[in-house]
Amino acid sequence: MITKEFDTIAAISTPLGEGAIGIVRLSGSDAIAIADKVFTGKTLTKCASHTLNYGHIADNTRVLDEVMVGVMRAPKTFTREDIIEINTHGGIAVMNEILQLILRNGARLAEPGEFTKRAFLNGRMDLSQAEAVMDIIRAKTDQAMNIAVKQLDGSLSNLINKTRQEILETLAQVEVNIDYPEYDDVEEMTTKMLREKTAAFKNLLENLLKTAKRGKILREGLSTAIIGRPNVGKSSLLNHLLGEDKAIVTDIAGTTRDVIEEYVNINGIPLKLIDTAGIRETDDVVEKIGVERSRKALDEADLVLLVLNANEPLTDQDRQLLALSENSNRIVLLNKMDLPQTIDTAELPHDVIKIAVINATNIEQIEERINALFFENAGLVEQDATYLSNSRHIALIEQALEALDAVNSGLDLGMPVDLVQVDMTRTWEILGEITGDAAPDELITQLFSQFCLGK
Ligand code: GDP
Ligand code: ZN
Repeated sequence: MITKEFDTIAAISTPLGEGAIGIVRLSGSDAIAIADKVFTGKTLTKCASHTLNYGHIADNTRVLDEVMVGVMRAPKTFTREDIIEINTHGGIAVMNEILQLILRNGARLAEPGEFTKRAFLNGRMDLSQAEAVMDIIRAKTDQAMNIAVKQLDGSLSNLINKTRQEILETLAQVEVNIDYPEYDDVEEMTTKMLREKTAAFKNLLENLLKTAKRGKILREGLSTAIIGRPNVGKSSLLNHLLGEDKAIVTDIAGTTRDVIEEYVNINGIPLKLIDTAGIRETDDVVEKIGVERSRKALDEADLVLLVLNANEPLTDQDRQLLALSENSNRIVLLNKMDLPQTIDTAELPHDVIKIAVINATNIEQIEERINALFFENAGLVEQDATYLSNSRHIALIEQALEALDAVNSGLDLGMPVDLVQVDMTRTWEILGEITGDAAPDELITQLFSQFCLGK
C-alpha cells in the first residue's frame, strides 16, 4: 500500500483537562524529523519503528517537559503514515506549549477527525470503519462500544462488500445473456435469474435492517419518559435509576424541580431520560399541556414509564394517562407497595409491575420488562451478529431496498432488461456509500468534520 502524500499534522490527542499523561500526536512524512528537532536524548530519525524513547522536549535550551516519545513508521500505523506520539506529563499548559513548538517547527494543526480521515484516505479503513472510530469515542455503554468495535473490525463492511460483489456478478451474468440473444428463451432465463437474485439481496438487507432497531437503541439510547400525576414517586424512581440524588424529592405535591437530561445504563441498555424537566411538566401533564400535546410527547418517546400510587385510589388523571399511553411501549408501575394497597387493581392493565422505590423492591423487573419489550428477551447483544446502528447506514440500506423494489416492478412490467439493470446498478452504488467506495467527497468531508479534535 502506497501512502498518499500529505503534509504533517499535529494535535493534542488526549481529552483536554487534567490527566496523568497527555499525548501530542503527529502524522505525516516529516513527523519524525519535526519531532527530532525539539527532542533531546536520542536522534529520533535513527530510532527503530514502534519504540518508546525517553528524553526531553526543549525549545532551544529551555526544557518544556520530560517525555516518552513513541516512534511509529509507516505503513503499520493508524494513519499508514509516520506517527510520533509525545507522552507528556499532562497539564494543558505544557501540552499546548509542546504543540505550539511542533507547529513552529513545520507541522500544521490537524482538523477535527483528520487523523482518522487520513487512515481512510490511505486505505487503512473504509468509511463505515472510520465511523466506528467516532462511535467508539462517543459510545455511552459497553454494549454500544461492542457494536462499534465490531464495525471497526469490518464485519459490516465485509457483508456489504460481499453483497456488492454478488450484485456485480449478477450484472455481468445479465451482460453475458444479452450478448447471446440467439439462444432461445434467454430473456426468460435472465428475468428468472434477476428475480431470484433480487429476492436474495432483499432478504439479506431486510435482515440487516431488523438489527437496526436494537443497534440504534444501544447506540443512541432508548428515549424514555417517566410520567404520572404529582407525588406518585417519579423523581424518586429517577433518582434510584440514576443512583444519585439529582432530582429533588419533596413531600408536597407538584413541587419537584427536576431539570436533568441523563443517560442511565440498565443492564447495558442506555436509557435517555428525555425531558426530565418534563417530569415536572408531566406532574400534571394533561392539565398543563393538553391531551394532544402530551400524546405527541409520548409518541416521541421509545419507552414510557407510567407511575401510579398503590396507596391511593385511582384518579381521573391516572385514567387519562393510562389511556394516553395505551399505544406506546409502556410499562405501568404501581409504586409504594410498602404501604397498604388502596388502589383497585381491577382497572389496571394485567401486566402492571408492583414496586416500592423507597426500598428498591422489584426494580429489577423493570429491567427485565425492557429487555422483553425491545430485545425479545434475546439477551442484549448476540456476540457475532452484525448490527446496523448508524443512522446514515440505515438510511442507505432503506434506499438500496427501494432500488431493489424498482428492479422487481421493472420485471413485473416486462421492462427491457437493460433498464432493469439500471436499478440493480443503483443498488450497488448506494451500498458503496456505506463503505465509502462510492461516497461523494462532500460527504466524506462532512463526516470527518464531526470528529473531535486530535482523533
Ligand atoms: P413525584 O412528584 O412523582 O416526582 O414524586 P416524588 O418522587 O417526589 O415522591 C413523592 C413522595 O413519595 C416522597 O416523599 C417520596 O419519598 C415518596 N415515595 C416515593 N416512592 C415511595 C415508595 O415506594 N414508598 C413510599 N412509602 N413512599 C415513596
Ligand atoms: Zn417529581
